[in-house]
Amino acid sequence: MVDTYSSSAFYRGRFAPSPTGPLHFGSLVTAVGSYLDAKSHNGEWLVRIEDLDPPREVPGAARDILVLLEKLGMEWDGEVVYQSQRYDLYRAALARLKKQALVYPCFCSRKEVAALSITGIDGPIYPGTCRNAQGEGQNGKSQKRSAVRVKTERRSIALTDRVQGFLSQCIGQDIGDFVLHRADGLFAYQLAVVVDDADQWMTHVVRGADLFDSTPRQIFLQQLLGYPLPAYMHLPLVTNRRGEKLSKQTFAAPVSQFNVLSQLVAALRFLGQNPPQALLDSNLETFWRWAVQHWQTDRIPLSGAPVGFFIK
Ligand code: GLU
Repeated sequence: MVDTYSSSAFYRGRFAPSPTGPLHFGSLVTAVGSYLDAKSHNGEWLVRIEDLDPPREVPGAARDILVLLEKLGMEWDGEVVYQSQRYDLYRAALARLKKQALVYPCFCSRKEVAALSITGIDGPIYPGTCRNAQGEGQNGKSQKRSAVRVKTERRSIALTDRVQGFLSQCIGQDIGDFVLHRADGLFAYQLAVVVDDADQWMTHVVRGADLFDSTPRQIFLQQLLGYPLPAYMHLPLVTNRRGEKLSKQTFAAPVSQFNVLSQLVAALRFLGQNPPQALLDSNLETFWRWAVQHWQTDRIPLSGAPVGFFIK
């Protein structure tokens, strides 16, 4: 096993929202779960705004998220970090991979990739067109702007998640060479998250189960870059009655700045904890004291009932 943080006494975790809109009940669950896990370990809890994709961002959303966290009584440690201010770090990591010939430029359009690929765990498995054409002048395509892909390998990457359990993926086969830097100049989430978690010394990653499938890719990059591995815990996803993940696309209701206690109690219940009814009539301080003291990760379910069951 590669060097891992999971047995160290020091705990640092994070909540890493993308400012694509207001927090909804699903993001509240992630915030609460990551906060409680950190605090119950006497650890630090940092906030990182993942504003990596300007076209998807909503102006003011980052500020609104921070204001809401404060209203919920969730204090973060240190300064809030913004991915949009960390391009130099991502560029440096990419340069290190390039120096070791672990990445290559890809000139294929989305259409070309889709037409030539079979579908894997997370979209088309890149057939390796540009990897194979390396050194051949990219078929005269070198004038075009290129993406950068990482060379994946046919070996298994496994992890044991604290909630979801064991997962093994052969990245080369299940995912294919994936993009680290997009042709439009933006850095990919997979690269940025790995660089940031290492740069910020994150020992524990607690987030939504929609990212469980991404974790072997992130471990693969951590291995290539020589970073330590955080411990992972993927929380059950909150869905609506149609079984869809709560998101802007599915018109999830924003977390309200009012009746914060009832929403926090609902998030705790979703996470399988058993808060007493009396907490609803208490205050934020009492709520958090109870929640930190009684946080039990073995009560967290693999999946939860739809949001309507918890928030009326
Ligand atoms: N920014 C991602 C999101 O809002 C979370 C990324 C992560 O926690 O690794 O879904």
